[in-house]
Amino acid sequence: MSDQNCSKEACASCAQAGNCSKKQQDADQKLRDRLSRINRIIVVMSGKGGVGKSTVATNLAMAASLTGKRVGLLDVDLHGPSIPTMLGLENESLVGDDDGIRPVTIGSLLVLSVGFILQNPDDPVIWRGPMKMGVIRQFIEDVNWGDLDLLVVDVPPGTGDEPLSICQLIPNLTGAVIVTTPQKVAAVDVRKSVTFCKQLKVPVLGVIENMSGFACPHCGEVTPIYRTGGGKKLAEEMDVPFLGAIPIDPAIAEDCDAGKSFIEASANSPASASFREIIEKIL
Ligand code: ADP
Repeated sequence: MSDQNCSKEACASCAQAGNCSKKQQDADQKLRDRLSRINRIIVVMSGKGGVGKSTVATNLAMAASLTGKRVGLLDVDLHGPSIPTMLGLENESLVGDDDGIRPVTIGSLLVLSVGFILQNPDDPVIWRGPMKMGVIRQFIEDVNWGDLDLLVVDVPPGTGDEPLSICQLIPNLTGAVIVTTPQKVAAVDVRKSVTFCKQLKVPVLGVIENMSGFACPHCGEVTPIYRTGGGKKLAEEMDVPFLGAIPIDPAIAEDCDAGKSFIEASANSPASASFREIIEKIL
């Protein structure tokens, strides 16, 4: 953990004003250096929880890494980090060297989550906004991500401290992907995420409709069990791209629970194909 002398949250602007400590200016430079080695950074957001945002973030990152790209997955869902469980990495912890903290690797994917620093997975994270900002900053500044083609950031649902911190800390964000489900109530919430991005001048790469129909595990046929198309309609209304739909696939939950990478373990399923098509569009 670095020593942060500056009490101001937006330290880059503090440095510009000339009233920031040398230590803080060095830290700002280090952050810029780390970011300059990452080609694209996308943040995966949702208006509400339970729509499959972490599932989408994990599988998009995994799908990109399977194409041979160097990919990182950063989980800043500080209060409910689920990515270690999804990838079977619950027992991993972080180690570091002179170049910084080393992310945990699964295949060629680099993963960092607050879950790796909690002593007990049942411990609640009780942090106020500035502390969250500090931890998120360290997840970029103090972590040896190396040269990445893509960093996928999973933020908690809504428009709170964590997405705000990410948008403020990363001036070169490529954009945001917004996950929703077909039900109207989730679509209403996602409008807030789109507006949040527009206000912070973060490009919206597009909307993904998750849990869109049910993919039969036997024949692969997708049956619309809720009225589908809400994500597409919403994207059109908000004038942002629609990236695609991912069906409910029982293998997603099964593979997640077993800590297996769904996209590898169930490579032939319709949902796997959707993840691959969507990441291709994003890349
Ligand atoms: P969020 O991050 O939005 O809270 P999660 O990604 O944790 O949601 O997903 C919530 C639950 O839904 C998990 O158990 C996950 O395995 C399951 N899930 C997500 N998307 C799908 C899908 N397309 N098909 C089947 N299960 C899914």
